[in-house]
Amino acid sequence: MASLSKRVLDLVRPEVAALSPYDPNFTPCKINLSANENTYDLPVRVRTAINEAIATTPTNRYPDPMANELRDQIALWHGVHRENVCVGNGGDELLFNFFLAFGGPGKRLVDCPPTFTVYDIYSKMLGTSVVRCWRDSKTFELDMDALLPMVRTANMVIITSPNNPTGNTITHDDAARLCQTCPGIVMIDEAYIEFADKGISCEDLLSSYDNLVILHTYSKAFCLAGVRVGYVLAAPDVIDVLAAVRQPYTVDVFAQATAQVVTSMRGVFLPTIKQIRYERERLERALAALEGVQVWPSQGNFLLVRMPHAGIVRAHLRDKWSILVRDFSSTPGLDDCLRITVGMPEENDALIEALAAVLREVA
Ligand SMILES: *Cc1c(COP(=O)(O)O)cnc(C)c1O
Repeated sequence: MASLSKRVLDLVRPEVAALSPYDPNFTPCKINLSANENTYDLPVRVRTAINEAIATTPTNRYPDPMANELRDQIALWHGVHRENVCVGNGGDELLFNFFLAFGGPGKRLVDCPPTFTVYDIYSKMLGTSVVRCWRDSKTFELDMDALLPMVRTANMVIITSPNNPTGNTITHDDAARLCQTCPGIVMIDEAYIEFADKGISCEDLLSSYDNLVILHTYSKAFCLAGVRVGYVLAAPDVIDVLAAVRQPYTVDVFAQATAQVVTSMRGVFLPTIKQIRYERERLERALAALEGVQVWPSQGNFLLVRMPHAGIVRAHLRDKWSILVRDFSSTPGLDDCLRITVGMPEENDALIEALAAVLREVA
């Protein structure tokens, strides 16, 4: 991983000096199952409609800062009001703004690792203190008995559901208990919710708890990782805070137009989402059948697997088979674990074949 030069280290704030540039460890490969994107192309009908929308989008004027047309569409979709929606340059920007607004020196986040590491990075960057409530080391389920007392004194708690990279979800009961117990804000990061079973989303708790924030993105199920649009659903005064700290023009005119088309045509994505869910179960069974491989059930478009020599296995997959998966083997709590994005059937077949061969070689 790249690190900062001595020269700039002397110039920056201590919180910044502790950071290193984000490196997803990307290597171009024939099959990329490393970043939990939807590996299907945009449906042709959607692509055509996006092209048409973009062709007539003026570029000389600034975008609508709050993306109100898109907000209205999202509000209608989720049965809330415009005032309950804030759009951002990907979920990541909204997470950053969330920390900017509710974190910082003197504020405390409760984080539940192993999980998305961006929360930890943004906490450090903005000087927020982090209390960790580790998930069960075998099942990666939340430890509610430990978590509830911790959130009693927290300013923020983030639960990822489905959790990246373990695939677990939070129940409505547990989410409600967190909202009741935490005097601060409870964020549920639902970046992968479209791949989960019906009824898993906690968005229906929004009407009961004004300290609940739900994060969604167009990056995963809706094939827009490259476009950068996400949104949060929350109480109007929480949205006001996010609106106050955000840079006004981060969601550009093309991104707004594209997300509007995708929102209006979201039903077109259902067949591929269904296919990915089906493939997830098929891939899970095939991986579990491999000697020495442990696989966890998942509600996302990815599977966490553990096997001996995972780091070497990943390197062989990349270098000999041109298949890229994500290495978590040096992440605390995830020894010898890899995360595999569920791809198209032929990609999954190629992965299974390659992994079986690599395991025979490495064993
Ligand atoms: C991918 C992801 C996001 C947001 O991704 P964006 O591309 O920035 O919208 C948020 N949370 C989790 C857990 C993710 O995996």
